[in-house]
Amino acid sequence: MSLNYYEESPREECGVIGIFAPNEDVARMTYFGLYALQHRGQEAAGIAVSDGASVRLHKDIGLVSQVFNNQNLANMQGHYAIGHTRYSTTGSSQLRNAQPFLIETMYGPIAVAHNGNLVNSAELREDLLKHGVGLSSTSDTEIITLMLAGAKGNTWKERIQNVMERWVGAYCLLILTRDHVLAVRDPWGFHPLNVGLLPGGGHAAASETGALRTLGCEAIREIQPGEIVELSNNALTIHQAVPPKKHLAQCTFENIYFARPDNVWHGLSTHHVRQNLGKQLAMEVKIDADVVIPVPDSSIPAAIGYAIESGITYNDGFIKNRYIGRTFIEPTDSLRKQGIALKFNVINENILNKRVIMVDDSIVRGNTTGPLIKLLRSAGAKEVHVVITCPPITHPCFMGVDMGSQDDLIASHKNIDEISHLIGSDSLHFLSLEGMMRAMNAVADPDEKNLRLSDPCSDEQGYCNACFTGIYPFNVNIQNTKTGFEKNIA
Ligand code: SF4
Repeated sequence: MSLNYYEESPREECGVIGIFAPNEDVARMTYFGLYALQHRGQEAAGIAVSDGASVRLHKDIGLVSQVFNNQNLANMQGHYAIGHTRYSTTGSSQLRNAQPFLIETMYGPIAVAHNGNLVNSAELREDLLKHGVGLSSTSDTEIITLMLAGAKGNTWKERIQNVMERWVGAYCLLILTRDHVLAVRDPWGFHPLNVGLLPGGGHAAASETGALRTLGCEAIREIQPGEIVELSNNALTIHQAVPPKKHLAQCTFENIYFARPDNVWHGLSTHHVRQNLGKQLAMEVKIDADVVIPVPDSSIPAAIGYAIESGITYNDGFIKNRYIGRTFIEPTDSLRKQGIALKFNVINENILNKRVIMVDDSIVRGNTTGPLIKLLRSAGAKEVHVVITCPPITHPCFMGVDMGSQDDLIASHKNIDEISHLIGSDSLHFLSLEGMMRAMNAVADPDEKNLRLSDPCSDEQGYCNACFTGIYPFNVNIQNTKTGFEKNIA
């Protein structure tokens, strides 16, 4: 995919949404909800709708706007719907891995939309094959769907509960049956999932609160780790299917990079968390400079925070073409050689003869920071100092975020001075783990004295920091790579 030519940040996982809204055009509502979740996955999109009798599905490779049109939405009438925007985590980006997955079971149709990644999918897959269950895709979501179809229990809630114990990893699920929409969150609470009351009656659940607010939802509530929530007309049915893990593992990267700034997660606004990350960075790293600029878009709040705390002027340094990274058309060789310049232009007047602090959210492979610095130097920057709003990423993620393998991660085999030399910065600084956790908690508790800073790496804080520390919440199988099953299904 041409996305690779422009993106080096960790890839978002997926966006999921589910709606129960009697007498409404639920397909169209799901479509607009997916639009608000597009940043979480740009490779494929899908919607499944039930009218209480049968389920219809439409999914394809492409952006939400490319996959759906008036006609295919009009063909999906009903009261219950789920939707998915996909960036592939397990399985390649081929159409057969697009979601929702829909199958017929002895209890009727079931469709599943999944955000996350199971770390024991290889073992679960073997088990299904041993029992004669065929698989048509390479995605762990198909494994989840087939396990649900064969699960014991009198109701879908019971069947889901009975298989949740076997799933190890990250899963936020929206499940559509003939006459239910159920939302399920793993007991570690890796990724966010929220539910809200729709203005015309009924409920919607989605990865981010921004999508629910797009639909006019009120009384938005976070679905708690280990819960199954059944969407209904008035009161929600909430069921604690498995107990939440004693040590939760909420993904810190949701706050650093993935979530849209208008998202609210356990009462914290992502925008304000990012501003705090920038402020914390300015407390830790003092640099004599003339201007602070963000690498747009995700670093804008952090750069504002850095500027406020340091007293150095904030300004725009780059203008980003927000759409180039979303094209599926491959560039020509000569355009490809321009690399990052296809995506960013510098505002020369803001950079000329200036000592610049460039704020970015992360360095993964390290192949876009250097070209950005070059652009700034060509525009006349006197010095370029790079500050990053998280610690060095040294370990891959197995819970639904694609950062590549350990070898791909520049900080796993180079120290900070070596990286700085490689990217051509005058200096390079990363936020400390302690500072990052302080910034995430500081929004909830502005009284610094009350912050729990004794052991910021510990899961007592309820966060996963495995990509920075290599300490995973459970055993992970390093061989279980994203496309590990591709060799079996051509
Ligand atoms: S390893 Fe990193 S990206 Fe993956 S869930 Fe943990 S914090 Fe998030």
